[in-house]
Amino acid sequence: MGCEFREEVTMSQFTTLRIGGRAELVVLPESSEMLLGVLDELRSREVPFVVLGGGSNVLVLDGGLQEVVIKLDALNRVDIVETDQKEVLLYVQAGKRLQALLSFLLREGLSGLEGLTGIPGTVGGALVGNAGAYDYEMMDVVEAVKIVRGGKVELVSKDKIDSGYRKGGLDDAEVVLGALLKLNRDSTERVGKRMKEFLNQKRLTQPIGEPSAGCVFKNPSGQSAGKLIDLAGCKGMTRGDIEVSRVHANFFINRGRGTASDFIGLMEDVRERVFKSFQVELVPEIKIMGSGIE
Ligand SMILES: Cc1cc2nc3c(=O)[nH]c(=O)nc-3n(C[C@H](O)[C@H](O)[C@H](O)COP(=O)(O)OP(=O)(O)OC[C@H]3O[C@@H](n4cnc5c(N)ncnc54)[C@H](O)[C@@H]3O)c2cc1C
Repeated sequence: MGCEFREEVTMSQFTTLRIGGRAELVVLPESSEMLLGVLDELRSREVPFVVLGGGSNVLVLDGGLQEVVIKLDALNRVDIVETDQKEVLLYVQAGKRLQALLSFLLREGLSGLEGLTGIPGTVGGALVGNAGAYDYEMMDVVEAVKIVRGGKVELVSKDKIDSGYRKGGLDDAEVVLGALLKLNRDSTERVGKRMKEFLNQKRLTQPIGEPSAGCVFKNPSGQSAGKLIDLAGCKGMTRGDIEVSRVHANFFINRGRGTASDFIGLMEDVRERVFKSFQVELVPEIKIMGSGIE
């Protein structure tokens, strides 16, 4: 087992928005040991790095990334740690695709994450942003998260993590390695039925077939950002090839040649309109990465 190195990589290929300039180096470690070796090396050379999951909640700027990009695609194991009649404890590595984990849960008849059906990205990204929908959240099933902090691997138990709405509470983690998840035993039929219902709901209300980064803004307390954007008359607004979706106003779509600068411009336009209409300051949910220099 080694490590794959890719040089001069256009990041748009790694983001669901299909936007993002170049990174000089992308590293794909094939094992946790390799990853820890890479982190040691980067630390000793004082080279900054960022971790990218499925790139489904990020806007990578047009000037690209100065940092080394680490992708954990190969760290995608799911192991059963403990099991009894009611519950199953799993350890899932951060690079596991969230939907591949959900397929596993469906096969095994395990309940707890059905509402996350259809959310792209990795388990690592879902933990960092506490991804959720339909009253389900990633952190609901977490018992502990394994992270690298200050160069050391730590298993942090749930009660020490200050998570909340779209906040995993893992900001001081340099890398999220994986998590212990507790799921309830159920029948494959019931789990499958719920997953199907949530996916149908998602298909009806979100432009899931088009390039986007999911919700651009967080919901202000007690309100829906999408609704405010819609009521402020922003649906269909554009900057270049970026458009406020007509299906769900909190999704901005890349119509093909969209750029990060257009995306940021449209975010500003929408924030201004919503503020003028409702005196509400929208806060970004997406993570903006990189430099603006072309
Ligand atoms: C069509 C569509 C629908 C969506 N629907 C939803 C929804 O219903 N609910 C919802 O919550 N989200 C939704 N999203 C947003 C997105 O899919 C989730 O936030 C997802 O969990 C992000 O995971 P990711 O692996 O793609 O993270 P990325 O976008 O790659 O990264 C997000 C952040 O996490 C950090 N990160 C990722 N992995 C690690 C790691 N292992 N260690 C340290 N840091 C890491 C990155 O540095 C970055 O800051 C949707 C997105 C799309 C495109």
